[in-house]
Amino acid sequence: MSPNPRDLHERLAEIVGPDHVDTDPGRMADLFPSTYPEAHLPLGIVRPDSADDVAAIVTAAGELGVSLYPISRGRNWGYGDACPTSDKAVVLDLGRMNRIRHIDEDLAYAVIEPGVTQGQLAQALEERGLWFDSTGAGPEASIVGNVMERGFGHTAYGDRIRTVSGMEVVLADGSRLRTGFGDVKGSAVGAVFPYGIGPYLDGMFTQSAFGIVTEMTIWLMPKPTHFAAAICQVRRDEDIFELIERLRPLRLDETLRNIVHIGNDLRLISGAMRYPYDRAEGQTPLPEGLRQSLRQELGVTPWSFSAALYGDAAQVRAAKAKLKRALRGLDCRLIFLDDRKLALARAVARMTAFLPLGRALNQKLDQAEPAVGLLKGKPSEAFLPGAYWRSRRPVPVDRALNPAQDGCGIIWVGPVLPATARDLEKFLDIAEPVFRAHGFDFLLTLSFVTARSLSAIMTITYDREEAGERDKARACHRELVEVTARAGYPVYRGHSQAMDLSGIGTGAFWTVVRRIKDALDPNRVIAPGRYDKGGMP
Ligand SMILES: Cc1cc2nc3c(=O)[nH]c(=O)nc-3n(C[C@H](O)[C@H](O)[C@H](O)COP(=O)(O)OP(=O)(O)OC[C@H]3O[C@@H](n4cnc5c(N)ncnc54)[C@H](O)[C@@H]3O)c2cc1C
Repeated sequence: MSPNPRDLHERLAEIVGPDHVDTDPGRMADLFPSTYPEAHLPLGIVRPDSADDVAAIVTAAGELGVSLYPISRGRNWGYGDACPTSDKAVVLDLGRMNRIRHIDEDLAYAVIEPGVTQGQLAQALEERGLWFDSTGAGPEASIVGNVMERGFGHTAYGDRIRTVSGMEVVLADGSRLRTGFGDVKGSAVGAVFPYGIGPYLDGMFTQSAFGIVTEMTIWLMPKPTHFAAAICQVRRDEDIFELIERLRPLRLDETLRNIVHIGNDLRLISGAMRYPYDRAEGQTPLPEGLRQSLRQELGVTPWSFSAALYGDAAQVRAAKAKLKRALRGLDCRLIFLDDRKLALARAVARMTAFLPLGRALNQKLDQAEPAVGLLKGKPSEAFLPGAYWRSRRPVPVDRALNPAQDGCGIIWVGPVLPATARDLEKFLDIAEPVFRAHGFDFLLTLSFVTARSLSAIMTITYDREEAGERDKARACHRELVEVTARAGYPVYRGHSQAMDLSGIGTGAFWTVVRRIKDALDPNRVIAPGRYDKGGMP
């Protein structure tokens, strides 16, 4: 049963002040737009300023019989946005807790609150000789929220959960703990040795709704003396299989230390322009002839990848040579870019901007610079336009992009495969026809999050303003998750508006998960239903 809205408002306002609570049902739709075909709206939103506030809110929620859905910045676009798992929850927005508590330059780590954004940390690190790992979700996305979902970025620290060394967590009964050695009185090593002694709990608080993280220590990457981005365009569709076989050994032996991202042509085209409804004469998905023409016009090949080479001069030189050797015989164009080359190219482009060639070069650099920046942990808005591919609304130019607010339809589906040509072939045979059958374009990236696996991130982009498209997108999502899981490739991350598709099972693993949830949060105060089959007890 939901509490009386006035009691709820009063109780929360006592903790955070009236300016930081909103329980007006009439405002929820505007505050919680979604990229999913439909989404739960919360009972309200509360914005704490400290872990003490969070503890008090959790206690009050337990007493009022209401649940809380925590968000760090709520930019979980394509995975449920800021929307809760049920319409009986209050969103606990941790955005005000945005202090960078400490940056240690010698030991290369930062202690941050959940509301710290990628842009904020990047700026704080600018002059410090340290890089953090950035995702493609732009400067406004959080770091903590992304780690809670075991999201990944683009640098050598891209498998982000592996760079966490200690969390502060508020539990459903209002108590607090620090993981690892952070909980040992007088310990000097919580931030540098993640494992502590005894069970290693950090991972347990990700993808679980077992607690609310109010502080996290993340390791930073010392800026290497030398860096080069390797950008490669693969001209033959069928070479993708050989490419995987050739890149895997370089990930395994750490010649390529970062998460190598491979994208198909449609993923790149969708980042560079909107869906050409006129040229396609209203047809969807993109007709094959038009796809070929767009490849030519935009200089896009069937597959491309970006990788980063870090180290001293000799290490980067050796890695370049090894990568070149590995790709020998493939019909591809490999280039290496570094800051010096980019600056030189930009100077030439500026001087020749009055010529078509100069304008084209400027355009290419506008795309290349953010992609190279990401390999050095620089967040950018440049990747967000891809979310607008099938939308018919204009992309806003006078404010930060926000796909949910701008009415974009986007759903990510991310199964994981062993990094072999055989598995990739099987996966493509299964997944691509599902997109076609539902009228969507098969946008795909393949990321070596670990050296042995590929996260196959597929994007369903659709026009959310068309009821028919919403139905098709939902059906496509369900079918993709089901067929890939059946083939042995389950998704790595759940969608908050479709948790039934996240692979939560009934086996021994999920029984233990449920027992832990029962012990820590018997009344299901924290995000009921999020990675928790059955939701309310
Ligand atoms: C164009 C585009 C590119 C993208 N690129 C990437 C990418 O490269 N990598 C990637 O991983 N994602 C990517 N995303 C997806 C998504 O936008 C990001 O994962 C984003 O970081 C999530 O938003 P957030 O950080 O604000 O997290 P939030 O929305 O705040 O939270 C995400 C989830 O974590 C839980 N949570 C948040 N904070 C806490 C807390 N303190 N305690 C307990 N639970 C918490 C929430 O309940 C929620 O379920 C992309 C999206 C778009 C549209």
